This record gives sequence, C-alpha cells and structure tokens, in this order.
Amino acid sequence: MPGNDLRDAIARTRDEVCALHAELPRNGLVAWTSGNVSGRVPGTDLFVIKPSGLDYDALTPESMVLCAADGSVVDGGYRPSSDTASHAYVYRHRPDVGGVVHTHSTYATAWSARGEAIPCVITAMADEFGGEIPVGPFALIGGEEIGKGVVETLAGHRSPAVLMRNHGVFSVGRDARAAVKAAVMTEDVARTVHLARAYGEPLPIPPEAVAALHDRYTNVYGQQPTSQGEPR
Ligand SMILES: [Zn+2]
Repeated sequence: MPGNDLRDAIARTRDEVCALHAELPRNGLVAWTSGNVSGRVPGTDLFVIKPSGLDYDALTPESMVLCAADGSVVDGGYRPSSDTASHAYVYRHRPDVGGVVHTHSTYATAWSARGEAIPCVITAMADEFGGEIPVGPFALIGGEEIGKGVVETLAGHRSPAVLMRNHGVFSVGRDARAAVKAAVMTEDVARTVHLARAYGEPLPIPPEAVAALHDRYTNVYGQQPTSQGEPR
C-alpha cells in the first residue's frame, strides 16, 4: 500500500476504533477502564487498540495505539491494553477478522464464572450466534494465552463470541463495528437467558431450525452489508 494511502487507512482506523469505544459504556458493558476494542487497518497486518488504563471519556483517535502483528507498538504515546498480545494472536490466526472486543459485561461474565455456555433458546440468538455462545479455557492475562483460547474455541462454533472461563467476553467481527455489535448482543442474550433460567427451564430450539435461522440472517437478510457493516 502506498505511504499516503497507508497513513489515511491508519487515521481512519484510529477514528473508528476510538468512536466505537463509546459504545461500551453506552451499552452498559464496562466499569471504570475495563474492556477494549481493536480494529485491523484494512489490507494490512497492523491493528489499532485502546491504550491501557485511560478513562473512556479521555480517549481520542491520537491516543489509540498502533500495533504490529506480533503485538509490538508501532506508533503511540501510551502503553497498549494489557490484552494486546491476545488481540494480536487472533488477527494472526484469523485473517477474516477485522475487529476484536473484550468486556467483563455482567450477565455474560456470570455465565463464564460458572463455566457454562449460553444455550441457544431464543431466535435472536440463533440469528446472531448460530448456536450456543461457547466457553473458552481459563487463561492468565498478559500473554497471548487468551487469544489462543479464543481462536481454538471459536473454530468449533458459528458464534462470533466466546465466554473465557472466570473472565469475560471476547468477540470478533469482519470489522471492529461488527465485533462491538457481537459484544452488545452477547450481553443482551446472556441477560435474557439468565432470566428464563431463573424461573424455569428454557425450551430448546431444534438444531435444524437454529441453522435455518442463522442461514437466513447471514445470507439472505444480511447478504449486502452497507458501508456501516450492518445487515439491510
Ligand atoms: Zn479482561
């Protein structure tokens, strides 16, 4: 990519990833400075991620940290998120992924604390996740162990989100906006299925119906993504 085009692409990704961070507190997914969003610079193996420990209100496009495929900092005045090595692992092993989001959103993290996958018992979940939201392994923060667990767990599922055991949610998408949407939807269905379970046993949806709903949502309803990456 020519130098000017690359600079423009990096600037656009900084703007987009910074703006998307506002969706986490707005949707009640994070407390204090927890949680992070990253986005791949399109057509490259570079990505942009939240700086570590900054208040959400203080985030600016310039404060976002540009990282290389190995998670090392390419450009940025702040230390990147402590989850950077895991985001990098996901980008290296999933070329189709353009965005990664991490939260400790309340209901989803409660499922992760029990090590229990969220069963697919509502049609909105069949649409969005194509089945259960699976549980990934317990992994310590700081290295790429979490990223490895995310990639390995998602390989066996249609879901774009995984509940990392005793920790929280990691979601992926074709771009950062899609990954944020998956994080929002994960908390939404985690809450609904929790409530269903609190008062009884949710009724399963037959696997063939789950597959049909997911297929319709992804291939018919959403066959022509708009510039915003949303299904029409
Ligand atoms: Zn975390």
